[in-house]
Amino acid sequence: MPLIDTHFHLDLYPDHQDILEEIKNEGIYTIAVTNTPSVFLRSSGLAKNCPFVRTALGLHPELAASRKSELALFDQLLPLTRYVGEVGLDYASQDGDEQAAQRHVFEEILERCSDFGDKVLSVHSRRAESDVVSLIGAGFSGTVILHWFSGPRKVLLEAVAAGCYFSVNPAMIKSKSGQRAVNEIPSERILTETDGPFVKVGHRSARPWDVKVVISELANQWNLEADATMDLVRKNFKRALTESQSCDRGHAV
Ligand code: MN
Repeated sequence: MPLIDTHFHLDLYPDHQDILEEIKNEGIYTIAVTNTPSVFLRSSGLAKNCPFVRTALGLHPELAASRKSELALFDQLLPLTRYVGEVGLDYASQDGDEQAAQRHVFEEILERCSDFGDKVLSVHSRRAESDVVSLIGAGFSGTVILHWFSGPRKVLLEAVAAGCYFSVNPAMIKSKSGQRAVNEIPSERILTETDGPFVKVGHRSARPWDVKVVISELANQWNLEADATMDLVRKNFKRALTESQSCDRGHAV
């Protein structure tokens, strides 16, 4: 039964070749997100011989203000992949200009992705959940996966109504707020991720196979066997990919 990791940073591990071996051996379907357009080709090059990895084109919100000039490169590369991330908003910075620059970049990205209609986005929303969900709105054409969502219940329900999926990682599922969120999210909208190498499992960086930690916690919460839980997540992933597409253009990368 294949595992799914919809958000990890392949290019930020020192030992990415070992990670790729592990992904192949375990048969884990992964989305390797990137933080700036300028690293996309290198990252997709790393994974080019691994059929389980899809490389996403990203512009991380914490870099959006300083790298907004890379939007032109984002545009140029966007036809090469169906997957987009890490993108979104992060209001850990209280600076109004910084937040406005992030919103500008995210709006531009949403507009360009919506034009294609079949993009799959992994979206960061720390302390900015309400703005993220309202910018996505009802009109966005494509699939949105909210990564590590930690917003209030009201916004969570708005995101569910807007058709968003939610990817849950080992750190999120261990926290009280994360468990509360998982209880509120319909099970057919849940996906798994690690956000490695940022998320830790014990004292080491999470690796894609650590989605097993999430599977076992979800199995407990849903009162299912691990296999049935993996199957449910796999079906969710398949639906997330087929809802917004007629053809999967990204696989050429
Ligand atoms: Mn991340």
